[in-house]
Amino acid sequence: MQLCPHCGYDNYEGVVFCEKCGIALVPVPLATRQFIDEDAHTGTDRLGSDGVLILQVGAEDAPIMVQVKEELVLGRLSAHDGGITYINLTAYGAADRGVSRRHARLLRDGSAIYLMDLNSTNGTHLNGDPLPSGVEQRIRDGDEIMLGRLKVYVYFKA
Ligand SMILES: [Zn+2]
Repeated sequence: MQLCPHCGYDNYEGVVFCEKCGIALVPVPLATRQFIDEDAHTGTDRLGSDGVLILQVGAEDAPIMVQVKEELVLGRLSAHDGGITYINLTAYGAADRGVSRRHARLLRDGSAIYLMDLNSTNGTHLNGDPLPSGVEQRIRDGDEIMLGRLKVYVYFKA
């Protein structure tokens, strides 16, 4: 068995993504093209049912990889609750960069992923444009999300 460091769920040995919260338990090999700086607006906007979201926070840190079940909340909480996986960005300097505890969410609707600001203190930008709180905006592979002053690149892996 291997305990998920994120939610504590006891997964079977060899499972790549936590059965409960969807976060990758072991490093997942990535196609190199995903880290080439492409035009942010040419990526796919469809994520398959087993598709993985890759959240690249900062240039050097290992990306966070997660299978989106229903909803991710980006902020400074670690939890898994009723289909919602909370992604804790504290280790990336989130507090210093003005990230709220519940800052923004990513919601899956079929193959589409929507970003919504959760009335955060310092706001959310998508590809440089401010995202009004409570507005759902569809995102695509390669998009740049700013949570307060913390930059996160999002990649879709089929
Ligand atoms: Zn887990």
